[in-house]
Amino acid sequence: YFVSFEGPDGAGKSTVLKEVLAEIGPELRPQYLVTREPGGSKIAEKIRDIILDPANDEMNAKTEALLYAASRSQHVEEIIRPALKTGKLVFSDRFVDSSLAYQGEGRDLGIAEVKQINDFATGKLDPDLTFFLDVAPEVGLSRIKKLRPDQEDRLEQENLAFHKKVYAGFQKIKQMYPERFVTIDATQPIEQVVKQVIITLKQRMPE
Ligand code: C5P
Repeated sequence: YFVSFEGPDGAGKSTVLKEVLAEIGPELRPQYLVTREPGGSKIAEKIRDIILDPANDEMNAKTEALLYAASRSQHVEEIIRPALKTGKLVFSDRFVDSSLAYQGEGRDLGIAEVKQINDFATGKLDPDLTFFLDVAPEVGLSRIKKLRPDQEDRLEQENLAFHKKVYAGFQKIKQMYPERFVTIDATQPIEQVVKQVIITLKQRMPE
């Protein structure tokens, strides 16, 4: 069973995921695999470093989309598929939907086009369940300014208009996959967010 966590920058995905795991408890932990994008394996992390390196800010949008897809392909084949095959529950901090939102909508490549290269990259692996941690782009960015000042420059360059497009992209993607998307209001206190994630997991996960 494959679960992804999506949302704009500053939605709190990583923190929520950490707290959810803490709730699950150590006895059950071996049944879970937690991974993240862009990255999640040695080669995939190296590709992530190329993409996120501020020195590469002249990278064109198609190169960026293809590198994300390349990184994801390695991540799927090396980490995600083998774990799913052994019956593990896989949690991924971001997956294809991030590319559809950031590169497809944010960088204007088109959601359908980016979906196509990702279908090739992943062999059409889709999550069974996707949590969308919903926070307005303005709020997400201001959280990052407070919590991760080191990332402020990069995000400032991308600017609010870009993040608004990304957010609008996520809204479209949610409508494309209503059966697997569950939206959680990420402006709530973290305990509340974690509680709602756990409740949904209990309802949806196979026994
Ligand atoms: O999830 P996290 O905040 O660690 O993601 C790192 C950065 O990668 C994000 O700030 C996001 O802007 C960017 N990203 C992207 N396209 C993707 C996935 C992530 O631009 N497909």
